[in-house]
Order: sequence, then C-alpha cells, then structure tokens
Amino acid sequence: MSVNYLIRGATLPDGTTQDLAIRDGLIADSTDGEVIDGSGLRVLPGLVDIHTHLRQPGREDAETIETGSRAAALGGYTAVCAMANTDPVADAAGIVEQVWRLGREVGLADVQPVGAVTLGLKGERLAELGAMAESAAQVRVFSDDGHCVHDAAVMRRALEYVKAFDGVIAQHAEDPKLTVGAQMNEGEQSARLGLAGWPAVAEEAIIARDALLAAHVGSRLHVCHVSTAGSVEVLRWAKSRGIRVTAEVTPHHLLLTDELAATYDPVYKVNPPLRTAEDVTALREALADGTIDAVATDHAPHAREDKECEWAAARPGMLGLETALPIVIKTMVETGLLDWAGVADRLSHAPARIANLDSRHGRPLTPGEPANLTLVDPSQRWTVTPDGLASISRNTPYAGLELPGAIVATFLRGRATVLDGKAQA
Ligand SMILES: [Zn+2]
Repeated sequence: MSVNYLIRGATLPDGTTQDLAIRDGLIADSTDGEVIDGSGLRVLPGLVDIHTHLRQPGREDAETIETGSRAAALGGYTAVCAMANTDPVADAAGIVEQVWRLGREVGLADVQPVGAVTLGLKGERLAELGAMAESAAQVRVFSDDGHCVHDAAVMRRALEYVKAFDGVIAQHAEDPKLTVGAQMNEGEQSARLGLAGWPAVAEEAIIARDALLAAHVGSRLHVCHVSTAGSVEVLRWAKSRGIRVTAEVTPHHLLLTDELAATYDPVYKVNPPLRTAEDVTALREALADGTIDAVATDHAPHAREDKECEWAAARPGMLGLETALPIVIKTMVETGLLDWAGVADRLSHAPARIANLDSRHGRPLTPGEPANLTLVDPSQRWTVTPDGLASISRNTPYAGLELPGAIVATFLRGRATVLDGKAQA
C-alpha cells in the first residue's frame, strides 16, 4: 500500500500558503497519513530537465541511469530527458526502449529518452525517428546533442518528419567549421590565454538558420543551451515573427564567465563555453522575460581521467542536476529577476510542454493531478562538496561554493523519492 502524506502549511508558487494532501499518488483535498511540516518551505511542481546526459549505455563508469536518477530526485526533478549520445547511440527503437525501461525499473524519476536525429550522430542519414516515436518510449524530442545537425537539408528533413507526431528537434547550435580546435569562448580572454576561441557567431548563425527552416517547414525547433547575448536577439526576432522556436539556458551559463578559463582547471571546460559577463546578464534577462523558455541542466558527468587532465585534452561538460535549482535561486530569485511562479514555469511547466510530457509533468498543484512535486527550503544554505553528490562523477564547477535552497522532499506520483533531503532508494 502506498503511503499518503499531508504537507502542512507550505507556500505554493503563487505565494499562497495551504495544506497539500497526497493520496494514492494524486494531489487531494485531504488525507490521513504522514504529516510533513511545510512551514517556511516552498512547494513546486516536480522539476523537468529537458537536457540530461545519463551515460548509460556505454559509460557506466561516469554515470548510470540509477545514479543519474538519484541525482535528479535529490535536485527536485521528477522527469529527465536522457540525451542520445550514448554508446551505442540512441538512434533506434531498441535502444530508446532499453533506456526507458531501465528508468522505470529504477523508479526515482521518469527517464524520457531523447532520440538521435541522425544515425550514429553522424549528421548524414536520418535515424529511425518514426520507429522511436512509435516505440514504448514514445520519443518526441530528437537531438544529436554533442554535435550540431550541420547539413541544412538534413535538418530540414528532420523538421518535416517530426511534424507528423508533434515532435521537436533540439539543436546543439554550433557551426563546426567555425569551432575547429576551439577550447573556450572567443574574445579578450582567449586572446590573453592563447587558447583557440569558439566564436558567438558559430551559435547565433545556426539558430538563425534553423529558425528560418522551422518557419519554412512549419515545424517546431528547440535550441539547446543558449549561451550568447546575440542568440537572445535572434530568438527575440524569431519569436516576434511567430516562429515556433523554444530555447533553454543552463544554470552554469547563468552564473559563470569565461574568466574562469584563466585557472586552466578543466572543470570549467564546457560546450558551449562559458561566455562573458555581458552574455550572462543578457541570458538572465531573457529567462526573466520568457525569450528563453526553460532552464535545462546539460548535466554531463565525466570520469576522472576525462576531466582531471590538461585543459586541451579534457572533455567538455559539468554536473548539474543537484545544483540547478539553487543556482537559479541565486541568480534569478535572489536578484529579483524571477518570482517563484516564474521558477515553476521555467523549470517545470515550460520544459514539460516542450518535451511533450505535460500530460503527466509540469501540472498545476491542484487536486486530481499526479503528485509530482518538490519541497524546497529557500532559507537553508549549503556548501557544495563533490563527494557529497549522488553522481558517480565529480566534475561540479561549484565545489566549495555556498548556495541557497535545499531540496527537502521530492514526490514522484505520490511516492517519496527524497525525504528529509535524503534519497529513498
Ligand atoms: Zn550540447
């Protein structure tokens, strides 16, 4: 039998304080059951990450679906979209079903596989998009993330193909010809450090092209990890034209800048790279005004040997699931840019809609809805210690940083995946 819960006096995203009952997996008017003191706590709809790397199959030494799901639950997430750049690549029905099933068996978060756009992420021939959509995993988001779908004709065909089932192409916007050998953001810092630069235009040009293609085809485009002020301008233009484009920003691009490359510590190496303070300001404003729809972690675990080496040899990517909400509180809430209703939108409602998960996730916190929710103590501050994280990998850029906001509890369909800040399996 499932445990029922009564959360007493927690504050909803709209600022009202009330009791919240969880009965038989649903939000209810009232219930008998375990009482949780919600005073001083914020309740949010379960967070949804549209961009997570879980590394299984292939790199179980860096992360598994189990450890990544645990990290997700501890970060307040009830659903994560697992990117396709595994080994083998998730470009066929069998592999996405395997990932989906493993996620169900673990049961700490709904793991929704993202399908590759092209076979083997090679950018040449379309993957089995229809078969993945019709599989048990019901894939709706397709991405070659890690690589850009660079060939405009391939991108056009992919956009056309997914229209039939309201799918979306999530583009890693990077013109590969403009970023050959790139090690960090191209600008003053890269010139000073003598590292090859990744110019903003390599991202902005692809977003502009893809927005035009999406408009031409009448399909839906999602832009992964937007990182520059210029990209924000392109997105504003596309949205003002009524083009169906959505975009995400990562917590690290909301906080960190390219000055950290001067440390030569590969923990700060990421793709797209950390940009300038002006870019960070533009990204925060765009997330506040809705030009950027959602926060996505781009959680990218890497084994020690891939990260604890020279900058040039290190793989790009950072952990993100367990620190995403605290970083958003620090950069957006404590700065007055976003209220809690905005947090609920950008980290739950909007990503659930983009990923077509909104029949189950990112729902309003009203009776009869699935009890997918998270309880946050915004007044609690904690210091990030890599060994204290649930991920197998240790590549967090926030080690030693004090962050606001602790996840107290997470519920997935009424079952506590986290209680008193501790994972329940
Ligand atoms: Zn990417």
